[in-house]
Amino acid sequence: MNVGLIVLYCILGVIGALLLFMIVRTLIARPKKGKTEPFTFEVDKDEAARVLSGAVRIPTVTAYNEGDDQTPFLRFHEYLEKNFPLIFARAEKTVVNGYSLILKISGKDPDLMPGCFLAHQDVVPAAADGWEVDPFGGEVKDGYVYGRGSQDMKSQLIASLFGLELLLREGKEPTRTIYYCFGHDEEFTGKEGAKSIVEYLVKNNIRFEFVIDEGGTMLDGNLIGIKNKYVALIGTCEKGYADYKLTATRDGGHASAPKKKSSVDEIAEAVYDLAHTPMKRTFSKPLKEMYRTLAPYMNPLYKFFLVNVDLLGWLLKPVLGLINPLLNSTMRTTFAFTQLQGSDAPNVIPVKASAVVNVRINIGETREDVLKHMKKVVGKKIEVSELEDTFDPSPVSLTNTETYATLVRSIEEVYEDFVVAPYPFIAATDSKWYYTVSNGVYRFTPFVYGLDDQKRIHGLNERCEIEGLGRAVVFYRRLIENLCY
Ligand SMILES: [Zn+2]
Repeated sequence: MNVGLIVLYCILGVIGALLLFMIVRTLIARPKKGKTEPFTFEVDKDEAARVLSGAVRIPTVTAYNEGDDQTPFLRFHEYLEKNFPLIFARAEKTVVNGYSLILKISGKDPDLMPGCFLAHQDVVPAAADGWEVDPFGGEVKDGYVYGRGSQDMKSQLIASLFGLELLLREGKEPTRTIYYCFGHDEEFTGKEGAKSIVEYLVKNNIRFEFVIDEGGTMLDGNLIGIKNKYVALIGTCEKGYADYKLTATRDGGHASAPKKKSSVDEIAEAVYDLAHTPMKRTFSKPLKEMYRTLAPYMNPLYKFFLVNVDLLGWLLKPVLGLINPLLNSTMRTTFAFTQLQGSDAPNVIPVKASAVVNVRINIGETREDVLKHMKKVVGKKIEVSELEDTFDPSPVSLTNTETYATLVRSIEEVYEDFVVAPYPFIAATDSKWYYTVSNGVYRFTPFVYGLDDQKRIHGLNERCEIEGLGRAVVFYRRLIENLCY
């Protein structure tokens, strides 16, 4: 037998063994055993709808500029106090920076580390144009509460308070101390709110066993090859965020006699080059964990590839990246150009031209990596500067903790036929500030939004289904009982 043939047999043997290994792995990957006992509880969802409707009517719009009226936040505090009397009767209330709110409800066991539920009070602006209803009218119709903030995220804020208020109505006092921390500028930078709250917590030596915030999503499993089930995702980390300004400088002049290349041409080239030279795709640890958790529930083809995500990543990355931009953004740092600037006049070639790129940094990379990549792509002629309010990706919270297990169980108890998995959250939340004061930070939004309702977040005709709101209240009632009692 010649050497070439031996090598060929060896290669075929290795491929065969690998294939066999992957097939066996696929066959033994089975859905989680045992069924969680469902938790049922009667709630007055119309009461929850009424409270949400009233909350939407208070226009707690993020203050983007100094001097913006922030008094609605004070009215919002009063409103919460009126509607959650049992919580406020027990709560030690601290107001940070005028409008952010911390509520501390002491538990019976001072040795247990406190737990913290986050929400932001602020909402993005909504001009009445294009809305079917008054965006700040809190209108209730066809089984929905309409208005800005009804999804993002007054519904969750209200549901989380209802959870404890209901337990207190039942005469149950918590064992673990509970904090509610409600920032007031999440939609801007979080600096006045969440960041300042965390500074207060650090100064006062307050640490949490867990922090639970908005973020993870619930979706129809059919969208990702999981038949007849829904999927609930818990964000264990979030991507980093940075804006960079690219500037080209060249001789300007009259537009009637252009030189071969202007600053505008150069910036256009830089934009093109960067858009076509992305950073590499990677499967971060939480992403792999998500695929491995979901794979056993998927159709056989998806299951085979995702159970073997560590061996077949090279093939999966480009395929998944092409299927959908959302999947693409879970795997890599993304560049989105948002602002371009050239001349002020149509007939003047500017000396300077610039472009701003919004970058969402993948788990495992840093701002330094991004800067290095950008400078390499655009070359020395383009100046690259980092703008304010940037941050690296957050750490990744563990999934082998008691808190995570309890969170999963609580979801399964209230939302039957849901598969729960961890995942890397691709947007930004207030909770990124809390890693320094908590053993774990988890993002979960207990609302099922169809594609239509997803578009309404920060968009027109935002609305919250009352049925879903009732269920979210039951969820928080159970979650708080499981975590803090
Ligand atoms: Zn939000």
